[in-house]
Amino acid sequence: MARLDLVLDDIVQLRKPHPCGGYRWRVTRLGADIGLRCMTCEHKVMLPRATVEQRTKAHFDPEGQPKPSPNSENAS
Ligand SMILES: [Zn+2]
Repeated sequence: MARLDLVLDDIVQLRKPHPCGGYRWRVTRLGADIGLRCMTCEHKVMLPRATVEQRTKAHFDPEGQPKPSPNSENAS
């Protein structure tokens, strides 16, 4: 089971865009549910961790540097 190593203020890119067109979300809360804020329109959502893990396409640290993803098969 792939597990995201999420840290507060990390950035995740989801597989589907928000209706505003934004793909990137800032992690604002960690727990059983993950709090995310759309970086384009500031909309906030709470999603179960499993849902976030399923929908995450790319993962970045707070500075926007890519983090290794357990889902990527070509990581060197
Ligand atoms: Zn948005």
